[in-house]
Amino acid sequence: MSKKDYSKQDAKHHLHPFSDNAALARDGVRVMVKGKGIYVYDDEGNEIIDGMAGLWCVNIGYGRKELARVAKKQMDELPFYNTFFKTTHPAVVELSAKLSEVAPANFNHVFYTGSGSESVDTMMRMVRHYWASLGKPSKKIIIGRWNGYHGSTIGGASLGGMKGMHAQGDLPIANVVHIEQPWYYGLAKDGESADDFGIRAANWLEEKINEIGADKIAAFVGEPIQGAGGVIIPPKTYWPRIEEICRKHDILLVADEVICGFGRTGHWFGHQAMGFKPDIITTAKGLSSGYLPIGAVLVSDKVTEGLLAGGEFNHGFTYAGHPVAAAVAQKNLEILQDEGIVDRVHDKIGPYMQKRWHETFSKFKYVDDVRCEGLICGFTLVKDKATRELFPDFGTTGLMCRDIFFKHNLIMRACGDHMVAAPPLVITKKEIDTMLAIAAKCMREFEEKMDKQLAKENAAG
Ligand SMILES: *Cc1c(COP(=O)(O)O)cnc(C)c1O
Repeated sequence: MSKKDYSKQDAKHHLHPFSDNAALARDGVRVMVKGKGIYVYDDEGNEIIDGMAGLWCVNIGYGRKELARVAKKQMDELPFYNTFFKTTHPAVVELSAKLSEVAPANFNHVFYTGSGSESVDTMMRMVRHYWASLGKPSKKIIIGRWNGYHGSTIGGASLGGMKGMHAQGDLPIANVVHIEQPWYYGLAKDGESADDFGIRAANWLEEKINEIGADKIAAFVGEPIQGAGGVIIPPKTYWPRIEEICRKHDILLVADEVICGFGRTGHWFGHQAMGFKPDIITTAKGLSSGYLPIGAVLVSDKVTEGLLAGGEFNHGFTYAGHPVAAAVAQKNLEILQDEGIVDRVHDKIGPYMQKRWHETFSKFKYVDDVRCEGLICGFTLVKDKATRELFPDFGTTGLMCRDIFFKHNLIMRACGDHMVAAPPLVITKKEIDTMLAIAAKCMREFEEKMDKQLAKENAAG
């Protein structure tokens, strides 16, 4: 197939996720053919900075031959075997030991899945089974947050708080409820400090618990930092207060670490950056740096004990602990450890990114709430900084901005009108400078375009 044909053929046969496929077929797609470090390359020879690490997952960067080698070796030896019927294999045993080593001390058991969504669905069944095992089957409501993202399966999409997703396919399912997100910029009262807002936002959980009754609630679930919701970093007071509320009312606390896990925040897990201790951790993405699909639910000793008392858990995926994916994930974790990548994000490259991120974006007229933790960063496009007025049709302006970045061979993402970046953790200072120089150029172009658009609207209005 010639190069140009891929885009055309794609339009004929491929339905893309989270896409208006009719529009996509009309406009055409970019064909990515290669990756190296923080760069991906398209079939026209463009070198593109991947400021999103794929989909928040290629933590160790593209093109690591070690992962290809272990995958080949494992495929040659044992490409597949299940773990259902009194069997195991070395790759999954080694990965489980490694995960227990990098996880907090009270996490020593792992349940495998094929993706983040499957990890979340597994967790939803697991917390209900846990309470049933302890003789409390009425504790089954799970509380998530508006604007949270927990995947696209029926369970995950229900627990997530994306209203556009709920609008399709009759969601959410029963016994899933939501509280408001801890978005200081958008939801604080006049003059309210970030710390005070953090406590008030956490107390929304307690209000919900009091409304429903703790005897009906299994768990509260949240991303330590909301990712797909637009990199919403809660005030430091938020998570410790959430933990306190969960303990007081005997509700399990689940950290969805699919994005925050494995170094993204400068810690092995995002809950460590946010100062709380969960009972269950859901993971995927960075677990294998995206090289193969694999997810894992990390289960604390307390929850494991309850599950072990409950007999058989009637749940499991064919590809749970898939040998090739497990071998690749184990090697990926080894690389994160051996090369000190998590510490490097914490001590060096994270602080550098934060400083440069603020310097680059704070000065632009339509940009506010510039924020960055570890290597997960965002800012919000606003119509008027002084009044915090957002643009109408939240998301339209973000897409326009994103398209300018994409045109200039820099991939950042628009989540609504929040612009976000989460580059591979191996990015260098020089690469950050290059990335942000391009970003500044794109923002100037965006500003000019927006100035014109608003002038036109004012003339018309
Ligand atoms: C991406 C994501 C998921 C879903 O993972 P998939 O592998 O896409 O199914 C779940 N939770 C969070 C926090 C995510 O970012």
